[in-house]
Amino acid sequence: MSSQKAAPLNLSVRFVRSIGVKKAVPFEKAGVRTLRDLLLFFPRRYLDRTHTTQLNSLQGPSNGEITVIGTIADTREVKAKGKTRYEAILEDGSGGAIKLVWFRRTNQIKKWIKFGYTAAFSGVVKQFGFELQMAHPEVTYLSKGEAEDLKSGSGRWVALYPGGKEFENAGLDARGLRKLMERIIGEFGNSITEMWSTELLNRFNLMPIREALNAVHRPHNQQELEKGLERFKFDELVFLQLMWGYTRYKRKQKESGIAYPQVGDQTRDLINKKLPFDLTNAQKRVLREIWNDMTSPHPMSRLLQGDVGSGKTVVALIAMSIAVENGYQAALMAPTEILAEQHYLTSRKFLEGLGVQVYLLTGSTKAAERKEILPRLDSGEPCIVIGTHAIIQDSVILPNLGLTVIDEQHRFGVAQRQKLMDPGLKQKPDVLVMTATPIPRSLALTMYGDLEVSRLDEMPPGRGKITTQAINGDNQRDDLYRRIRKRLEKGGRAYIIFPLVEESEKLDLQAAVEGREELINGPLKGLPVELLHGRMKMDEKEAAMQKFASGQAAALVSTTVVEVGVDVPEATEMVIEHSERFGLSQLHQLRGRVGRGGNDSRCYLVGYPPVTEVARSRIKTMINTLDGFVIAEEDLRLRGSGDVFGTRQHGMPELKFADIVNDQQLLMRARHAADELINKDVTLRTWPELREAFQEMAKDKMQWIKVG
Ligand code: ADP
Ligand code: MG
Repeated sequence: MSSQKAAPLNLSVRFVRSIGVKKAVPFEKAGVRTLRDLLLFFPRRYLDRTHTTQLNSLQGPSNGEITVIGTIADTREVKAKGKTRYEAILEDGSGGAIKLVWFRRTNQIKKWIKFGYTAAFSGVVKQFGFELQMAHPEVTYLSKGEAEDLKSGSGRWVALYPGGKEFENAGLDARGLRKLMERIIGEFGNSITEMWSTELLNRFNLMPIREALNAVHRPHNQQELEKGLERFKFDELVFLQLMWGYTRYKRKQKESGIAYPQVGDQTRDLINKKLPFDLTNAQKRVLREIWNDMTSPHPMSRLLQGDVGSGKTVVALIAMSIAVENGYQAALMAPTEILAEQHYLTSRKFLEGLGVQVYLLTGSTKAAERKEILPRLDSGEPCIVIGTHAIIQDSVILPNLGLTVIDEQHRFGVAQRQKLMDPGLKQKPDVLVMTATPIPRSLALTMYGDLEVSRLDEMPPGRGKITTQAINGDNQRDDLYRRIRKRLEKGGRAYIIFPLVEESEKLDLQAAVEGREELINGPLKGLPVELLHGRMKMDEKEAAMQKFASGQAAALVSTTVVEVGVDVPEATEMVIEHSERFGLSQLHQLRGRVGRGGNDSRCYLVGYPPVTEVARSRIKTMINTLDGFVIAEEDLRLRGSGDVFGTRQHGMPELKFADIVNDQQLLMRARHAADELINKDVTLRTWPELREAFQEMAKDKMQWIKVG
């Protein structure tokens, strides 16, 4: 330990001794800019005895890549048909042997792979006659000591860092990189300081940071490695949760929210006289939660999760009615024009006769109409305005805005949401964010950690059953459409969905257009079949929807535009063509279009072979459950965290170490730890090292999460 030096963690890699300007290049290209980054430049994988194969145990070709630690016993160059190949016999002391073969770069290889050369060779073993061969293995040079350690299973594992061409060009092959990292960790490992007090380390059951650093770079065993990695993941997650916790705390501190004094006759009439049904218990519970927020002087920031059809829109309407009744403006922002339109129609239906002014504002609103509406909004007139996100954001002044409802079928980035939530008014409007796809708990904690969460986990009564069936498009399709035809002839109504063909709206449209042609000239001949796709004009879309809703059209052939919230209770059949191409949440959304009335419904998932394993799992999940929360968890598991719900595109905090699919337990631990700390001392001054580390990290992370 005497050779340990402390250096500032933000020291540029170029100035780190034993790196220098030239070797810094590949590091910087890999995003490693400072000493801190360098210490956190973790191995890509490891070599250890449990991950290597003894040659005497190798009976035939290997199924996947294997790693053999051995020594070259013989070499030769073979020239045949004008080509040269280089062969080497590899032995590992177990009594077995294999042949290594190179067909390319033989001139370089032969200077390097010589008799007596000891290394780890990784690759796939194939059999030719009686001979086992590994072609173009990945070679990791090992010193005698390292090879001995690995073979005996004692000592440290050999770390393999994410090197490559750039590193090799700078003179750092795999072994060079490993030696360099070993030196860096040895010399500068102590530059990393511990941010947890001993008490908290014990309390949260964490490995001390320097120990963890060594455990990750040079583990002795799996357990040590995992405990070390856990430390880095935990720190990362706890920072995220501290940020969210702090945001929630700050928002609560602000006394600039609106405290609504009362629920008046208007809202009571809406609930008791206008709604043709009783609220579900879940709706009542959620409304109580919302009402508590609305009466408090702190601005509400609440996420309302609920499956398609669970009755979120009704909840939103009631909340907006309360706002208007108390003299404020309320805005409902929808992701698409179709949805905005539909919310508008629903509001009009339920609010009719109650004296509430409701305006619709979308890209299709005529200029003359806009000209009439905008000044009224500008005047502060208490009213409900419903529109698309963009419109309300860009062109509308709502000086008297008291409640914003964000219908978030398409998710926003955190920053964008913050902007919608805080339009910069004197008083802070209450905000209700609604999502129709239930979000797995771990993801909600990560993406929506700044919001309180309400769940509508109960469906309104009187719904028919939905059965889901997989259909093989190659041989069961004719039969399916015969059945559909019979149902339609008896007055049933069907959605028929065609998928996105590649990422092209044009092809997408084509699939639906051609699909409809094929159906009206074939199995659905003579039946009224309408078409709906994203490229139609608003009034064309409306006409098509209207025909389908009124029953003039028996079937609606559509692209996925109907996914978002279209509500036709009479529709009982849902056919999803090429269902193997849809994601789980999309399938769930689509299925949610049926089963909205009292009649039993059917959802047909038509698949065309070959269907991948994952697609098969998705279809199986759909058949097994209707529960959106279950489906969401499964979706997260199948797709992994990287891309699920578009977290990447939406500027979510990039988690470097933790993974919200595999580290759910740890995420909960981090959440609890953060809550505990914030409750005890929100300034973190009780723990100066932690406070400092948090501030350091927050400097660049806080942009996406605006803390007041
Ligand atoms: P979501 O917005 O969650 O998809 P909606 O609010 O659009 O759900 O409700 C779906 C359908 O159920 C609508 O037709 C709505 O009028 C109806 N609905 C809502 N709440 C109830 C309830 N408590 N009982 C019966 N029907 C309800
Ligand atoms: Mg809705």
